[in-house]
Amino acid sequence: MIAVLKTGTTEQQIENLTAWIKSQGLDVHLSRGSAHTILGLVGDTAKIDAELLESLDIVDSVKRISEPFKSANRKFHPDDSVISVGNTAVGGGAFAVMAGPCSVESEEQVMAIARAVKAAGATMLRGGAFKPRTSPYDFQGLKADGIELLLEAKKETGLPIVTEIMNANHLPLFEEVDVIQVGARNMQNFELLKELGRTQKPILLKRGLANTLKELLMSAEYIMAGGNENVILCERGIRTFETYTRNTLDLSAVPLLHELSHLPVIIDPSHATGVARLVKPMALAAAACGADGLMIEVHNDPAHALCDGAQSLTPDAFADVIAAVTRVRNAVKEQ
Ligand code: PEP
Ligand code: MN
Repeated sequence: MIAVLKTGTTEQQIENLTAWIKSQGLDVHLSRGSAHTILGLVGDTAKIDAELLESLDIVDSVKRISEPFKSANRKFHPDDSVISVGNTAVGGGAFAVMAGPCSVESEEQVMAIARAVKAAGATMLRGGAFKPRTSPYDFQGLKADGIELLLEAKKETGLPIVTEIMNANHLPLFEEVDVIQVGARNMQNFELLKELGRTQKPILLKRGLANTLKELLMSAEYIMAGGNENVILCERGIRTFETYTRNTLDLSAVPLLHELSHLPVIIDPSHATGVARLVKPMALAAAACGADGLMIEVHNDPAHALCDGAQSLTPDAFADVIAAVTRVRNAVKEQ
């Protein structure tokens, strides 16, 4: 349920109403938009008398929200959320470019890639330290050492770092990580999501391989319900019958999620296609349809990458993609 407040409502009046709603056992989400101030009521709103609420002097209108996701709902927060990450941001016009290797492999590798992606225009460095691999015999990542190497690269380049968490017990290792990634395979690991909701870290939440957009938003809701509103959504391709690509990129997720939610939406064309030469056209399409950013795998020696070499771009190819993405973004702005 949302209560749209009349213009001219004082802080004291907002506080009083908030206290009353909380006394009914509900949580309140306050959104000061450019046009309206909105109180979002979260919890069992059945016990709230909507007519009584609407009759209050300071309340302009009351609406019930039919969608099961509340905090993530655009109706609760009409303006785009802008998630700050170090000295950069995602959402509301701020475009994020997260780039780096699938897995952190060595100091030389991560440093070389970090320098190259920064020079090409990346705003964040990505790299897997804990890797969710289909086979238990495949490289599982450098784990804590991998995070240390990412932090070294952050120190040298100034790029904030994005890396995946697979187990809430590892959270202490993520203290200096700027964005914690929840991978596709963990999108519905609700205990992990709840733990991340208790932090204030920006969370990059990747869509599950076979999950609907509503399920993605419900997973965001798990994080937000715990008090962490810093969620970035990521479409990374879903399973279909197609086999030429690793997954099928669902680009309609971008405008749809923007309609449904105020959270930023980024596209990962690397995992979506699994094919390096398809990354550029999909990145351009993502920019054209309004994505708030990209996550792209880049490797200094894709042929010898320990993970996902076939979809990894060389630093030069990445620089070419980013230059083209910038042209598309400028063209789209003029529309
Ligand atoms: C990744 O980004 O390294 C990754 C494993 O992605 P996903 O969870 O989308 O498969
Ligand atoms: Mn990968």
